[in-house]
Amino acid sequence: ETPNPDLDAITAELDQRHVFHSWSAQAALAPFVIAGGRGSRVWNHEGTSYLDFSSQLVNVNIGHQHPAVISAIQEQASLLATIAPATANLARGEAAKRIADRAPEGFNKVFFTNGGADANENAIRMARQFTGRDKVLSTYRSYHGNTGSAVVATGDWRRIPNEYATGHVHFFGPYAYRSDFWATTPEQESERALQHLERVILSEGPASIAAILLETIPGTAGVLLPPPGYLAGVRELATRHGIMLILDEVMCGFGRTGRWFAFDGYDVVPDLITFAKGVNSGYVPVGGVVISDPIADFFNDRVFPGGLTYSGHPLAMASIVAALDTMASEGIVENAATVGREHIGPALAALAEKHDIIGEVRGEGVFWAVELVADRATRQPVSAAVMGRIKRELVARGLLPFLADNRIHVVPPCVVTPEEVAEAMAIYDEVLSLDLI
Ligand code: PLP
Repeated sequence: ETPNPDLDAITAELDQRHVFHSWSAQAALAPFVIAGGRGSRVWNHEGTSYLDFSSQLVNVNIGHQHPAVISAIQEQASLLATIAPATANLARGEAAKRIADRAPEGFNKVFFTNGGADANENAIRMARQFTGRDKVLSTYRSYHGNTGSAVVATGDWRRIPNEYATGHVHFFGPYAYRSDFWATTPEQESERALQHLERVILSEGPASIAAILLETIPGTAGVLLPPPGYLAGVRELATRHGIMLILDEVMCGFGRTGRWFAFDGYDVVPDLITFAKGVNSGYVPVGGVVISDPIADFFNDRVFPGGLTYSGHPLAMASIVAALDTMASEGIVENAATVGREHIGPALAALAEKHDIIGEVRGEGVFWAVELVADRATRQPVSAAVMGRIKRELVARGLLPFLADNRIHVVPPCVVTPEEVAEAMAIYDEVLSLDLI
């Protein structure tokens, strides 16, 4: 690609005039121009390159422009670019099989959607149909997508202006660093969070609750690793009351934690699994629900009341097959685990030693949060102004960050190398050394 700075200005102008952006007041936006990318790097038209430690929206797990995925999409496009959902198609069957093969025993069918929100939407629908109940319990610290039920299941601020769907109840999940339960140990946090959930279930009436919907590891809410016993305890409560457990693996699934599914690291098997993002690294929009046999069988003789024109779109399916095969053959999930354990984790711990502004570091694989505080003792979060400055300083040094509230999420692609981690850590170190507060 020949550098052409004029195209950066043209892109910015077209964007400002004609593109309406997500979750934003439009006037003051000045989006980052990206013209190309490869692996863990992206660049603009001028040719300035950035380390992508955001993986865009924490979805480009295989890295930018992996040639195996690009050529699979190209081949499928020349063979058959689109097909109706009611047909059978080889790429679709191959993609579904590869996903089911990575799920626990007893999960054999996949319903494909356009992304993560409608994956949750349809999982909720399945749970409601299967149980004949309507309520869905989810946590305040969560994001489940921007459609009807998914956005109301969402706990964060994005729910509030969109609260039209009915049958949603929220509760507090565990978050040891800022405990809602006055807990001082992870064990106490787990036990008390479970006690709280049980109280909510009993108070709502178990016979009215179709599902508990949880991100296995809440992502945008802060990479909140569940404390010991929590997910097993939720599973036990759900089973005891005939409630379906839906685990949202949209952000944490397909390699991000160094495992295929995040819940593989915990003592829990859900009834429904939702996925999107990392399954094909977003090269073509796609998501879906992996369905356990009893729920899939329930619809053998009953109509499933849901569908999408692009369910199982061939370009998305070909990209899933190639992405999963390549992640397996190139050891990309293992790379995420190793780089997290041997490089990102230790380097972030060293930064926390050095910089008082870091209150806590947590994560695994290529899924980490660095919590920034104005005061370590009170744990008061740093201000939005401080976060804005941090963002500008990181970008100025060639790092594209993912920031949420008072946190830097360190979320590079699963293919990130130790050298790229070292380069990023030097940039974080330099920025956190500035006089920020
Ligand atoms: N669930 C989780 C955990 C997510 O992080 C997201 C997106 O960030 C979604 C669901 C929604 O996915 P999508 O934006 O593809 O609809």
